[in-house]
Amino acid sequence: MVTTEVVYNLEEENILTNVRNRNETGIILTFDDGPSKYLNEFLDVLEEENVEAMFFWQTRLLHHKRPWNRVVANGHQIGAHTHRHPNLSLLRFDDQLHEIQTSKETIEQVTGKAVQYFRPPFGQYNEETLAITKQLQLETVMWDIASFDWELKQHPDQIVENIMNHVQEGSILLLHELEQTLIVLPILIQKLKASGYHFSTL
Ligand SMILES: [Zn+2]
Repeated sequence: MVTTEVVYNLEEENILTNVRNRNETGIILTFDDGPSKYLNEFLDVLEEENVEAMFFWQTRLLHHKRPWNRVVANGHQIGAHTHRHPNLSLLRFDDQLHEIQTSKETIEQVTGKAVQYFRPPFGQYNEETLAITKQLQLETVMWDIASFDWELKQHPDQIVENIMNHVQEGSILLLHELEQTLIVLPILIQKLKASGYHFSTL
């Protein structure tokens, strides 16, 4: 796991970790590892707060009963996060290609919309991963602020603290479709708004 610090400093050409160099300003909320059973409630909060976000899905979870159509209708973006969520850096080229291509094509078949963005599971990738994403015309999106929500089931307030202590204009925030994240999401969004941030997608 590369993610050991809240602030992630990755200097790699062709990988997006923030949007500070883009014309578009604002910060980006990203939710990994769905579509989960909490998706509808996440969408309720985002709708209530009038915020658009990005979802990176592992497509083995993409059952047709998940409200993917509401995600699209509400203006959120769906990116690929492989099919079974393996550590890609441990896989051979062909297996990596299969994982990434399957997730891209599954989302496209279900939603009817082209998938442009990809996030590697655990933030782990290698040169072959980047060759594959280039071949599939996917932009690799990492983050600059990790909320550590996956470790904070017992201390969800710390999710908000991690972000509020480190966020800056143009940040991409790493969150997950988890219960503890859902619990603090309204307060997180309200605090970010109160600090003057607005929300965008890619
Ligand atoms: Zn993941």
